Formats: sequence, C-alpha cells, structure tokens
Amino acid sequence: MGSQFEIALSVIIVSIVMFIASLLFKDREGDRPARFAFRLFYFFTVAFFVVISANLQSSTPLLDLLSDICVALTGACLTIGILWRCQSNIPVSIIYALAILYFITDSLVGEYSVQVAYTYNVIYSLICVYALLNRTQGSNVGDKGMAIVILINTVLILVNLASFTEIISNDFYTQFIVTLFIFIPAYLAGLTIFLFSSYMLDAHKALEIEATTDPLTELYNRRFFLQESKRILQTAERHQEPLNVMMCDIDFFKQVNDTYGHKVGDKALKIFAQTLSQSLRGGDILARYGGEEFVAILTKTNKEKANAVVERMREKVEQLIVETEKGPVKLTASFGLCEVQNYHDIEISINCADSAMYEAKSAGRNIVKQYENVLA
Ligand code: GH3
Ligand code: MG
Ligand code: MG
Repeated sequence: MGSQFEIALSVIIVSIVMFIASLLFKDREGDRPARFAFRLFYFFTVAFFVVISANLQSSTPLLDLLSDICVALTGACLTIGILWRCQSNIPVSIIYALAILYFITDSLVGEYSVQVAYTYNVIYSLICVYALLNRTQGSNVGDKGMAIVILINTVLILVNLASFTEIISNDFYTQFIVTLFIFIPAYLAGLTIFLFSSYMLDAHKALEIEATTDPLTELYNRRFFLQESKRILQTAERHQEPLNVMMCDIDFFKQVNDTYGHKVGDKALKIFAQTLSQSLRGGDILARYGGEEFVAILTKTNKEKANAVVERMREKVEQLIVETEKGPVKLTASFGLCEVQNYHDIEISINCADSAMYEAKSAGRNIVKQYENVLA
C-alpha cells in the first residue's frame, strides 16, 4: 500500500490536466452552465487527493474532515454538471439534499465513514448514468461512454463495499484496493475524454443543423435540398420509381408584410412551412427555396398521386388562419408540379415546376398546375 502516495500524486497531475481540458468546454447558449460544475469537479478532485496525500503522511481529524468535504463536493459537482447538461428531469435540489445528508450521516457514523462515502458515491453515480442515458437532447456516443465509465466505477465501489462484509476474502481485497487506486486516473481520463467528445459532437451537430436548415422555418435550406436531391434521384432511377417536384409561392405575401408588419409575416411563413410539411410523407423532402417560395420532392409518387397530395396541401393552406396580435391572417399559395424525366439534373425539373407555378399565378392564384398543362 506504499504506492498509494504515488498514485495520489498521479491523480493530482491527471486532474489538473483534465481541469485545463475542461476550460475548452462550451455550453450551448441558454443552457445551464454545466462547464462550471465540471471545472469544480476537477478542482475538488485535486483538493481531495492533496488532502489524502497529506493524510497519508500524518493523519489528523482536520484532514479527515477536509477529505470528507471534498468527497461530498466532488460527487455533487459532477452530478449537478451532468443533470444540467442533460436537462434532466431529476431536480438538482436532490443533489444538494444528498450532499447535506452525507455530512450528517458522516458525522454520526464515526468509523464507518468510508462505507457512507462509498454508498453516497453509488447513489450519485446511478443518478449520473440515468441522466446521461436519458438526455433530453438525445444521448450521443460521448454521453454513453461517460455512462459506461461511471458504471464501471460504480461496480468497483460496490465490490469495495462488499469487502466490508464476509463475502470477500482479505487477500482478494488487498489486491483489489490497489487495482481500484490504479483505476482512478483511468476513470478521470475516460470521463473527460467522453465528456469532451460529447461537447464536440454537440458542436458538430449544431454546425450541421446551421449549414442545412433555414433558421426561420426550420425546413431544409436550398443548398441542402439540391445536395440531397441528387441522392433521391439516384435511388429513384435505380428502382425506376416516379418522382415529382413541387414549387409553391405564397400569394400576395408582400401585402401581408405591408399590412401587418414583418414580424407577423415571419410568423405566417413559419406556420405555412409547418402546414406544407404536415402534408408530406417521411421519404419526401421539403425546403425553403427563397423568400416565400418552397420546393419539395415527392418520392414514389406518380403524376396523379402528386396532384392529389398537392391539392390537399393547397386546401389546408386555404383553410389556415394565422392568429396574430394584429388579428387573424389568411393565406393562399400557388403550386406548380413537374414529373421528373431527367434523373441526372434536378434543376431541369425545378425550372419546369417553377414555370407551372407561374402559370398558376397567371391563372388567378390559389391553384395547382402540372407542367404539361402549361404547355397545353
Ligand atoms: P405573388 O402572389 O405574385 O407572389 O405576390 P407577392 O406579394 O407574394 O410577391 P412578391 O415577390 O412581390 O413579394 C414577396 C414578399 O415576400 C416580399 C418580401 O418582403 C416577402 N418576404 C420574403 N422573405 C421574407 C421573410 O423572411 N420574412 C417576411 N416577413 N417576408 C418575407
Ligand atoms: Mg408570392
Ligand atoms: Mg416570390
């Protein structure tokens, strides 16, 4: 057990490095500042092992008390950080209550304080694992990795707890406690690497959404639509499936802005986009093409079916009432449809659907036109 001091020293170094790494964590705007809780976790881990090292040299009641305080704060900070980050439904007040409960029991139990600390550790670990696997924003690989690392740590603590009973022999325990100590730097490193991955994956996802989505309507943007349409066209050609492109444009939308203001116009655009999206199926793709112009590809759909789908869409828009503070706003839109003939260039079909849409405008608006009708 002479190696404990060296291991404590290595944990201090690892924790300091992890603390520095944690300075790069960046929570999303509007999220609770979980990064601060994680930094405090590393800080108290360092403090705990400094106190432990001092205690190994010469044990005093003050150092004992300090180490207990550090244990309580380390667990609480990690758990609070995870609860905030995962937007968990478990209230953080439970963690405060647990920390206080720990102090009370710790001061009452005397020589059993180690067992109490371990029990407390198991409870907060299980809370962390639950929160990580049930993250409101969806658990990524980093979160799952953290949950596994924490679970392994929990199993080791449970074995440790069992060692205080007759279940485990003394020889095994002596061997085991060394393994447990050696595991601590690996536990901290594993935890931080996965936490770091979780933050990186979140940032990556946010960038991906930003690059492919229109922020107002939350539909795909034109660039992503053109990129994705290539894949859809290739699949349709391989399976010889019919496809239709739909273009639509809100009628007299300038008047909505002029009469009710831009803010109401934005709200109307959002609700219009939702209405279109509700009329499509999973494999279809809908995007905001420009200001108040939208484009869609209806997959596995022939001309007649596409016409029926878009006609239903038009009716839904016509029945729509956008409630605003300046009174109800009604919208209509003109639709153009074109069956895809050329599977290698989506622009051709988009242009045809666009011509059909302008034909619908000329014919009085609030109607659906097929491309061939335009030629007729
Ligand atoms: P038409 O029936 O011929 O399409 O008439 P229109 O008034 O809809 O056509 P026009 O192209 O003249 O006007 C489009 C309007 O859409 C003008 C522009 O202010 C508005 N618009 C485009 N993008 C946005 C947006 O993001 N928010 C708001 N509020 N308005 C937008
Ligand atoms: Mg318009
Ligand atoms: Mg327009």
